[in-house]
Amino acid sequence: MIDAQTLSGPIDIAAIRNVRRWSPGACVWCGDDNAVEMFRNEPRCGTCREKESVIDEARRFLGMYGLRPLGGTLQSDDDEEREHRVNARDARRELNEMKLAELPDPAAVRKALRPRAASVVSEPRSTAHSGTSSASASTRPSTSRTSATPPVAPVRTDAVDVAALETRVTGLLDQLSAIDAQMNLIGEPAGLAARARISDLEKQRATVLRTLAALEKARIAAGQ
Ligand SMILES: [Zn+2]
Repeated sequence: MIDAQTLSGPIDIAAIRNVRRWSPGACVWCGDDNAVEMFRNEPRCGTCREKESVIDEARRFLGMYGLRPLGGTLQSDDDEEREHRVNARDARRELNEMKLAELPDPAAVRKALRPRAASVVSEPRSTAHSGTSSASASTRPSTSRTSATPPVAPVRTDAVDVAALETRVTGLLDQLSAIDAQMNLIGEPAGLAARARISDLEKQRATVLRTLAALEKARIAAGQ
């Protein structure tokens, strides 16, 4: 069969890039339209979100233990750290390979999102695309099998909250990277001023990590 042959052949990334173009409703990074959901305020496909979350996982792990930020060498103190670094590197590489040759204009993306955003607010999450959405649909507690007791709490627009959470987490992770970069820059504090600066950065870092931990709790509570 011709189809089987083409499928089993090596993936020609250049060819895919040439063909793929962003269209409304598709992933803004790779143009795929499979399992597209909001991720950091952008529509991203299931594959992209999975890879991004591998990178986030690694950053979170490194941040939690105060380890060197991602990038550079894979040198690690133990296997777990190394695994995170390798996974994140691979995920990043795959994301780069999937990337559209030309990323869509953010204004066009926002415009295409408007009607969709409205529908997300007006209807409970994941009822519309139950076929494509993953575990989040099945773990949703209010799926009324018994239908005897209506939920006491008002139905919250989870999707919006989670998107906001993710934006905050992203911001915090960026902040963390910036703090780490500054601390690396100072290195071993030589004088009083440098030591004070390091101590200040460490306090900032602790605050960011505490906030991240709190957000992570909230994210789990939201069933994501
Ligand atoms: Zn994608």
